[in-house]
Amino acid sequence: MIIPRWILQKSFRLLEVIRRTIFFTLMPLLFLYFKGNTQDQMSLKLLDEKITKLHPLHQRKISPQPGDWLSVHHEPGQSFEEYLSEKPIRPTEKLNTIYIQPIADFSKSQQKVIELTAEYISLYFNLPAKILTPLPLSVIPAKARRTHPSWGMNQILSTYILDEVLRPRRPENALAVLGLTAIDLWPGRGWNFVFGQASLYDRVGVWSIYRNGDPDESEEMFRLCLLRTIKTAVHEIGHILTMRHCIEYECVMNGSNHREESDKRPVYLCPVCLKKLCWNLGIDPPERYNKLESFCIKNNLAKEAKFFQKSIRILSIEIPNQYH
Ligand SMILES: [Zn+2]
Ligand SMILES: [Zn+2]
Repeated sequence: MIIPRWILQKSFRLLEVIRRTIFFTLMPLLFLYFKGNTQDQMSLKLLDEKITKLHPLHQRKISPQPGDWLSVHHEPGQSFEEYLSEKPIRPTEKLNTIYIQPIADFSKSQQKVIELTAEYISLYFNLPAKILTPLPLSVIPAKARRTHPSWGMNQILSTYILDEVLRPRRPENALAVLGLTAIDLWPGRGWNFVFGQASLYDRVGVWSIYRNGDPDESEEMFRLCLLRTIKTAVHEIGHILTMRHCIEYECVMNGSNHREESDKRPVYLCPVCLKKLCWNLGIDPPERYNKLESFCIKNNLAKEAKFFQKSIRILSIEIPNQYH
């Protein structure tokens, strides 16, 4: 069969139009894709260079003592690459605020601790942190409360708070909602208590200041209560940003089984976890340390301020280029 010449010419013209369309549509997209990737790689390289400088300030995880978290819970840890592969929760234009939801009553000093914790969270994550209108204890029904069978204190069920109190009330623009209570928490059968708990993919967490000491007792107790509260708060928000427990270094993302262990836990992130946070939130480490240092000086957290000072100093040192 002979195909007429005009049909062949039309087909060629049509094919040429298709070829050009594909070329001019795909090329800019491919360009943007590779440009984006290169920018990501460049900023990751710069971030790596900064974080490498911080290594001497950090201590590898000490072997757990009997009763410590890692002696009971055998956790695998989470490398930076594993973190990326989990497609972490990140802030977006729509999810841009961290909320604190007070539950039940607080003393004046405890309220002050909450306000300062919100300030610290905002500096730590470089996002607005807002305190929601407190909820009364009546939002927790009898089935989610108990008196501890041997210790005798009142406790509320952390999983009920996460699933039934916080998640249904989560504001639309909430990157994370953290419930905070002065009543002790327990997470269910087989547990005595928990300092805090977060849901890795629901963007809600809860923590209690019950075991943080009485901030009304003295200035020192106020300082201690604040320190313990901010440690738990940033730990739980870290989980909400898909960060798992750290097993590499002494780090605020270490799991903790008892008061002594969580008091030993530092207030800061180790190099592995810092890289996750800075990547996730697009934060520059020196700028962040400056803000955290000011907060700690203002609130008598001298040891913590000193760590941030040292970090700022070490980050400002230029590493000589060995090829010049
Ligand atoms: Zn944890
Ligand atoms: Zn860590």
